[in-house]
Amino acid sequence: LLKIHNLHKSYGDLEIFKGLTLSMDRGDRLVIIGPSGGGKSTLLRIVMGLEDIVGGDIYMDGKPYILRDGAKTKIDRKLQARVGMVFQHYTLFPHLDILRNLTLAPVKTRGMPRAEAEEKAMGLLTRFGLEAKARAYPSQLSGGQKQRVAIARALMLDPDLLLFDEVTSALDPELVAEVEAVMMELADAGMPMMIVTHDMHFARNIASRVVFAAGGVVVEDGPPEQVLDAPQVARTREFVERVF
Ligand code: ATP
Ligand code: MG
Repeated sequence: LLKIHNLHKSYGDLEIFKGLTLSMDRGDRLVIIGPSGGGKSTLLRIVMGLEDIVGGDIYMDGKPYILRDGAKTKIDRKLQARVGMVFQHYTLFPHLDILRNLTLAPVKTRGMPRAEAEEKAMGLLTRFGLEAKARAYPSQLSGGQKQRVAIARALMLDPDLLLFDEVTSALDPELVAEVEAVMMELADAGMPMMIVTHDMHFARNIASRVVFAAGGVVVEDGPPEQVLDAPQVARTREFVERVF
């Protein structure tokens, strides 16, 4: 599904990635862990096509998706449209009701007929237990409800890959479970996902693979039982013992 090869990224003098290589199959649910400031969010933003890169290339299903070409980063916008992302802080439009939040992009950017978009939106809201909130505004929802709406909104565009950047870390503990339950349901339905989370219990449950990224490269990559419970690399062991 995705092949990231020899990725280089800097912010000014700060080198974030120094030849990061990582690939992902359609059946994978990748959880990415690593030190704060190590570049996890940057990696997701790059895969989402929101950042320039300094070097390297990313392929989607064997097709060039993002590459560095001379002085420019080239992004294939058709392939970009197949990726969806959910952020830590709900990025719903406050002046639009929930239904409109969901239908805006499909109607405006994909030309989906409004009636069809609304039907699809209601289907997703019902699936996530939010059908009663269709006409509510974001400010009238709990944090967990807002995040579930944000996930539903990403699904409106039928992504082939969904990226989650610490989507539960701004939530009260009692709301975390309802968002994680939605993510588990998507995982069970076979949605390929790349997830950044600090919730190790959840990581163990949802991950098919855990990637420990530090120092600008992938340090260790394997099943959760390996990377979280019996790391093979000293640097991973030190991180996992310290953090979890
Ligand atoms: P955390 O676990 O705290 O979320 P992270 O692994 O997601 O950290 P990033 O947010 O990707 O880390 O940031 C990696 C580094 O890049 C940090 O040092 C950060 O300060 C820096 N950085 C991120 N975005 C920018 C930007 N737009 N301009 C300059 N520096 C940035
Ligand atoms: Mg981050």
